[in-house]
Amino acid sequence: MKDRIRISEIGLYLRCPRLVYFQSLGTLEPGPRSARHLLLRHLMLSLDEEGADLGRLEEVVARLDVELPLIYREELDREELSAAASVLREQLPDLARSLLPLLKALLPCQVDVELRGDRVGLSGRLDRLVSRGPELVPSLIRGGNPPETGVWKRDRLQLAGYALLVEERFGQTVRQGQVEYPLAGEVRPVLMRSVDRARVLRLRDRIGQIKAGQLPDRPEEAPCQSCKVADSCLTRHSLASRFF
Ligand code: SF4
Repeated sequence: MKDRIRISEIGLYLRCPRLVYFQSLGTLEPGPRSARHLLLRHLMLSLDEEGADLGRLEEVVARLDVELPLIYREELDREELSAAASVLREQLPDLARSLLPLLKALLPCQVDVELRGDRVGLSGRLDRLVSRGPELVPSLIRGGNPPETGVWKRDRLQLAGYALLVEERFGQTVRQGQVEYPLAGEVRPVLMRSVDRARVLRLRDRIGQIKAGQLPDRPEEAPCQSCKVADSCLTRHSLASRFF
């Protein structure tokens, strides 16, 4: 059986295919976790039928301030976490107001759902799987802002990957996914399209080739200025240019 491709690798490929190559070589090491993102994600995952009033959210943030350093021991900067928790505390009154009408789009649910699909050759950990009547709705949590309409392309394709995994695991069609933007107070629905499912399967194959050693071209619009492997990447580019 071929190695399954992680859904996170699809996200990485869409940032720059070469990042997948350098990650597979071990040159691209995972950076420190963003304290702000982790806090917000765990806060969202803690929501349940008891609601999201301000007092409850404050309790959760206080708990996370203590527990996250225990969970992410070496991946999280303690001072960055305290600063992020202070900022989040100031945002909690707005967050409590905006989350209240959104709860019905988020619950009931399973959170942190680990999915593996031998048939689709993918795996990944889904933030949230919402049960909406007989339907299952994969849901992603994003700390940034949404685009003007719809969701970002990378999120749409990652959702299509999770839809394939949910379909294999639960044997039912996923018609809709969604992306949660807690700081913007929105949950945006995403219709699952066959064209996105097909694109994910092509990306899976392409990522498999890269992990087997094929160096991809350097895309014109790659985010090279902030790239941690820019030096290695430039060397590869120069070596290739010598021969072609
Ligand atoms: S330097 Fe640019 S092309 Fe190379 S891996 Fe980084 S983002 Fe991609």
